[in-house]
Amino acid sequence: MSKLISLLLLIIITSGIAQDKSPNIILMIGDGMGLTQISSGMYANKNSTALEGFEFIGLSKTHAFDQLITDSAASGTAMASGVKTYNGVIGIDTKNKSIKSILEICQDKGYKTALLATSSIVHATPASFYANIPSRRQYQDIALQLREHSVDLFIGGGKKHFNKRDDKRNLIEEMNNYHFVKSLEELSSSESKKIGYLTYKDEPPTKLEGRSPALEDMASSSIKKMKSLGEPFFMMIEGSQIDWGGHSNDMDYVLSEFKEFNTTIQRVLNYAKSDGNTLVIVTADHETGGLTLSGGNIKRGTAKGTFSTKGHSAAMVPVFSYGPKAELFKGIYENTAIFDKMLKAVTK
Ligand code: MG
Ligand code: ZN
Repeated sequence: MSKLISLLLLIIITSGIAQDKSPNIILMIGDGMGLTQISSGMYANKNSTALEGFEFIGLSKTHAFDQLITDSAASGTAMASGVKTYNGVIGIDTKNKSIKSILEICQDKGYKTALLATSSIVHATPASFYANIPSRRQYQDIALQLREHSVDLFIGGGKKHFNKRDDKRNLIEEMNNYHFVKSLEELSSSESKKIGYLTYKDEPPTKLEGRSPALEDMASSSIKKMKSLGEPFFMMIEGSQIDWGGHSNDMDYVLSEFKEFNTTIQRVLNYAKSDGNTLVIVTADHETGGLTLSGGNIKRGTAKGTFSTKGHSAAMVPVFSYGPKAELFKGIYENTAIFDKMLKAVTK
């Protein structure tokens, strides 16, 4: 009898511990992925998207500090650090003060961290999580800030900003506590605690042009790596080029980039469902192209788009959430609240 009681006590205590464990956070940003991009991608995929598997849906107001239409630097900063700032600015508020990102706050709490992008790793969205810089165009300076940072794992293009620099420094050589790998296989077998994978010299090509590795494989390999380094972890995964398809007013470009991002979302969601302690948030920094879904065919899996601008638009963007504290993300709120809600999820 007393054995039974102590067993019951043990179960109660350990389940209590399991609930108290800080959750992993995977923040997925589809750059330029408004509701129409999602709708188009869904119909092009015969009326189905991984986003249907999420628990809660919210809407995020994307405007910058003083402009209705944001860029990816201001909105990246808003989500990463909870502050509205000027367009073009990364990780600095309107009083010129550098601000901490959720990635860095998580690091302070003992989280492992990872950044994955289908753009260069020094591009505005990923940079918002580790850089503080007055102009997003200062790619070489942003690379220098990554060199001085301690992100555990990063994957993205833009190698030239590290090893073909005006100051002649070779940051890849300088970052000698990192293992710079050349494939996901090498990443998986690496025993290093810090890993960098610079996928392309410049910006990576489009999915249609054959960009590799696939984002879903980058995500799977990275999740495995993070788990091996020790939990909990914070990971940001960006589908960077949905935005570039919008700027080019090229529907095939938008749909193919969304398709890869959608596959990645499904992978991540499957992982979160099996893990049980991973919060997944999928959103966008803004809409790009002022896209309307003006025709198509569900059976044939086609979607016809009409663009109204070569730039961004100011429409609210959806936020999908799954996992512990996912309910925080329902409702209508400023994009800065995404930071506040993630902070709440990691603070006991
Ligand atoms: Mg971006
Ligand atoms: Zn853009």
